[in-house]
Amino acid sequence: MTAARAARDGVPGPGQVPAPEPLPAAALDAHCHLDLIEQPAGEVLAAARAAGITRVVTVGVDLPSSRWSADRADPGGGVYAAVAIHPNETAAAAASPAQRDEVLAEIAKLAALPQVRAVGETGLDYYRDYASRAEQRDWFRAHIAIAKQAGKALMIHDREAHDDVLAILDAEGPPERVVFHCFSGDAAMAKRCADAGYVMSFAGNLTFANARALREAAAAAPPDLLLVETDAPFLTPVPNRGKPNTPAMVAHTVRCLADVKQIGVEDICALVTATGERMFGPW
Ligand SMILES: [Zn+2]
Repeated sequence: MTAARAARDGVPGPGQVPAPEPLPAAALDAHCHLDLIEQPAGEVLAAARAAGITRVVTVGVDLPSSRWSADRADPGGGVYAAVAIHPNETAAAAASPAQRDEVLAEIAKLAALPQVRAVGETGLDYYRDYASRAEQRDWFRAHIAIAKQAGKALMIHDREAHDDVLAILDAEGPPERVVFHCFSGDAAMAKRCADAGYVMSFAGNLTFANARALREAAAAAPPDLLLVETDAPFLTPVPNRGKPNTPAMVAHTVRCLADVKQIGVEDICALVTATGERMFGPW
């Protein structure tokens, strides 16, 4: 994502946000953008560890950020990468069919690296129109093929496109591991994902006062198909909504999810860690 795009999409600037109460057990941030966070990644990761967040997946949205994520990943230190061209970046990523093929070949090469644990974020965004729907679908299909070929998880961005995302997965044949990043469906959509064995990753908007439908979806989702994430620097959870987001803040979302599921915080930590390893492991 370019600086201009980051500004347009409302990436918050630097600022002081109180550290969350540390979790009673280790958990993870299944989706963040370390490259877009103002503070140095080392500091951000140290703050995350202090909150109990010992693993993060840092996600690319275009070729430069995918390369950055693959370079910065450090499985020994709990940092894993995901690589892809975000649906909103597809039109900008290639000026010709030949260039599209080159870009996808580079993503496939990155996806094969051992520290890269997912192909994403890819999918469909019908909320924005930075790329045509036909173009987004074409790139989504190509990313599904890359995930299957590399044997990595598919990390999906689905904004106002539930039916088409599910239909394309069905038509192409989904990879073994599928994660809906920043899950945005309702309880009915959660059931459709559960039937297909897709994992639903909940972000900070789970904590928002107006997110009743999302909490109903989390309540309906099977406990072993749940993940948590920040999508940092976006979507800061309550009580810091509107301030810059970092992986440490996923602790708030973990506690919210524990409350929604009526499961102890320590047990939720164990559940998301196990699901995270099934999707992005072995650690
Ligand atoms: Zn993201």
